[in-house]
Amino acid sequence: NRQILLAKRPQGLPDQSTFKFEETSVPKPGDSQVLVRSHYLSVDPYMRGRMNDTKSYAAPFEVDQPLTGGVVGEVVTSNHPDFTDGDFVTGRLNWADYTAADGAYVQKINPETAPITTALYVTGMPGLTAYFGFMDIGQPKAGETVVVSGAAGAVGMIVGQIAKIKGCRVVGIAGSDEKVTYLKHELHFDEVINYKTSGNIREALKTACPNGIDIYFDNVGGDITDAVLLQLNFHARVALCGQIAHYNAEKVESGPRFLPYLLTRSVLLKGFIVRDYADRYEEGINALAKWLNEGKIKYKETIVEGLENAPDAFLGLFRGENLGKQLVKVID
Ligand code: NDP
Repeated sequence: NRQILLAKRPQGLPDQSTFKFEETSVPKPGDSQVLVRSHYLSVDPYMRGRMNDTKSYAAPFEVDQPLTGGVVGEVVTSNHPDFTDGDFVTGRLNWADYTAADGAYVQKINPETAPITTALYVTGMPGLTAYFGFMDIGQPKAGETVVVSGAAGAVGMIVGQIAKIKGCRVVGIAGSDEKVTYLKHELHFDEVINYKTSGNIREALKTACPNGIDIYFDNVGGDITDAVLLQLNFHARVALCGQIAHYNAEKVESGPRFLPYLLTRSVLLKGFIVRDYADRYEEGINALAKWLNEGKIKYKETIVEGLENAPDAFLGLFRGENLGKQLVKVID
């Protein structure tokens, strides 16, 4: 059993030395536990926050202990009455070949109704984040202009498609021409800005949003968000979902600069974590699964092969290497 541990807490941008590999015997499941063999790991930006020793909504990783994250895998031994060998499950498990997990903390998934990776994406955490953040905070109305940053990432590309379903005009912001082409031509975003090559992002936004911006779904923060905030319309809504541009910052930058502007335009700006909506997950899963089945939502995955490449897949999030959901395939 190979597993990946946190070797040390990173200062700034993590690198390979943040991670450590260990070989152990396959864990033995105790009472009420199941032994799960990992098939896919979910690679998520929020894991960066858990590498710090700070209190947040998810407990920090422990140094010299396995990293944990979203995993789909197969039950190979079950000491829990609800599971039998061969069941596919998802849960927050170790970055390892095998995890012995309490049956109460894993959920069964049906590999016949959808590919198993959708449990880590469209009908899993990133999809639910897009759905609730956009629908609940965004309160979209047909004809409104929506801007989404991190638009070609896991959450961002679902947000844009839900916005299209709701009849909005959608402008994405992403970091490569390949991403721009995909969003425009495959997902039918109305406009997409490559923030790395567009030069003045404020000007690019003005051109792309001639009627201003009614909803901003923010995955990134930083300069991109500064540019968007100054073009919000009266009664605009901002869903603060992620701030990846700040995750590796070693010092806190100066505070929000545009509060007077937001105030005079009666803007709603609300942070959220997907777990705020835990009691409504069923609603979200049903809506997302329906759109997926109807072909109204498409998705892309970037799949790296081999557990040994999981650290690099994680580091790749900060280099923008993923189109859609970043996953690691652990076994065939
Ligand atoms: P993504 O699939 O979007 O991957 C991260 C992307 O961020 C990269 O592909 C890259 O794309 C972009 N990026 C990286 N660094 C920067 C930077 N400095 N400035 C601008 N863009 C950058 O990840 P997810 O879809 O999983 O998550 C998106 C955001 O949502 C993250 O901030 C995450 O933490 C947050 N999140 C929040 C949740 C919540 O409950 N609130 C739940 C899940 C995610 P590019 O090429 O465009 O630069």
